[in-house]
Amino acid sequence: MKKIVKTININVDKCNGCRACELICSAFHAVPKYSSNNPARSRVRIVRDPLRDVYVPLYAGEYAESECIGRDQYTIEGKEYDECGFCRASCPSRDLFREPDSGLPLKCDLCDGEPEPLCVKWCLVGALSITEREEEVDGEEVKLTEMEIGLESLVKRFGAAKVADMVAQITKDKR
Ligand code: SF4
Ligand code: SF4
Repeated sequence: MKKIVKTININVDKCNGCRACELICSAFHAVPKYSSNNPARSRVRIVRDPLRDVYVPLYAGEYAESECIGRDQYTIEGKEYDECGFCRASCPSRDLFREPDSGLPLKCDLCDGEPEPLCVKWCLVGALSITEREEEVDGEEVKLTEMEIGLESLVKRFGAAKVADMVAQITKDKR
């Protein structure tokens, strides 16, 4: 069985920190779609150091239930960046890649349903590009939807019974 692997290639040297990618990502994922834009809801964030002309696009990766025991800190050309500054995980130790209102984890979904990732389309200087390749996989892989990722994190945080009670209550209220 084969699957298509999509890769967003990031050319840090071309990024000028305009943040158009953050804007379009947050607008695309707003509810209703395009009703607002707030970079805090974006699945791509720019690590910025304007004085040094350093801009690094960082994509939201996997949800981490607990904090790492170890931390990493990068020093690039003599400048120290924030601890965990280049980590892609949505984790409890910081607000990055967490929906600001609900606290639910955010993860890049490659703009599910769009022919091309919108951050790539909106990056006018070509710092972002997408490539696709085929890969062999064993058995059927389960692709978690955004809703499943959100529900999984709620269940881990509050317990299945409480989440089920809440869903039942909301359903009842909406009738
Ligand atoms: S749109 Fe492109 S140039 Fe602008 S911040 Fe994003 S990656 Fe950088
Ligand atoms: S590919 Fe889509 S979901 Fe992922 S960061 Fe870019 S705009 Fe956001």
